[in-house]
Amino acid sequence: MRRKILFLAVLLSFLCFSTNLFAKEKWKEHKSRHFIVYYQKAPFDFIKTVDEAAEDYYYEITDNLGFSRDQIWSFDDRARIYIYDDSDHYVDSARQARWSSGSTILGSKIIRTFPSAHGFFDSVLPHELGHIIFREYVGFKTKIPLWMDEGVAMYQEKAKRFGVNGEVKRALENETFIPISKLSKMRLTRSSSRAAVDLFYAEAASIVYFLIADQGRFRFMSFCRNLKQGNSFEQSLHKAYGRFKDTDDLNRAWVNYLK
Ligand SMILES: [Zn+2]
Repeated sequence: MRRKILFLAVLLSFLCFSTNLFAKEKWKEHKSRHFIVYYQKAPFDFIKTVDEAAEDYYYEITDNLGFSRDQIWSFDDRARIYIYDDSDHYVDSARQARWSSGSTILGSKIIRTFPSAHGFFDSVLPHELGHIIFREYVGFKTKIPLWMDEGVAMYQEKAKRFGVNGEVKRALENETFIPISKLSKMRLTRSSSRAAVDLFYAEAASIVYFLIADQGRFRFMSFCRNLKQGNSFEQSLHKAYGRFKDTDDLNRAWVNYLK
């Protein structure tokens, strides 16, 4: 029996070792100032372009949100971008929903995506980096509704900033509109319908656009600073915007602005 256990233990450690070795061999890495890009079959000139674009966004998004940077991403603290070969590879290996073209793990600085993702450079990259930079500032553990995380990330996709209000207006007319109180409880899963996912993102982007562009970036910065200091979501909203005591007040003002 003991021999059997010993044999199993040896076999297990050999398997672990070889899996690690395999995992290490599989991903090639390219290191830049603030990023490490991991890839397998993607051509190197593509990887170089990813790294250059990510470096530009690193500064642009921080400025865009009005944040000042007290931590610089360097050495082991660099963000990691995993470039899967294609959509199937991404869905299977990164275990993502078919509708997703990129993702981050909350609390980490890891981005997973693939080269043919729709709008790779203009949407996926700034969106996922937006998530990381926003959370790094307000705190990875700070309790914020998902729509705010997604709205801030979508605000970094310049092309999408302007079209979303139209989508939300249509939802108001069709009575498919989701008020903020309900939006705050929504969770997106692999089985969420495309229409539900699209409306969720459109509303999230529209609220954040309203909070920044209509109400002023200065107030938005104050909102984020309050969140960072440990105030609750509604306390931070009230402190920064004065007239919004809670999400229902915000919902009313946003809907009026859309109409
Ligand atoms: Zn997102």
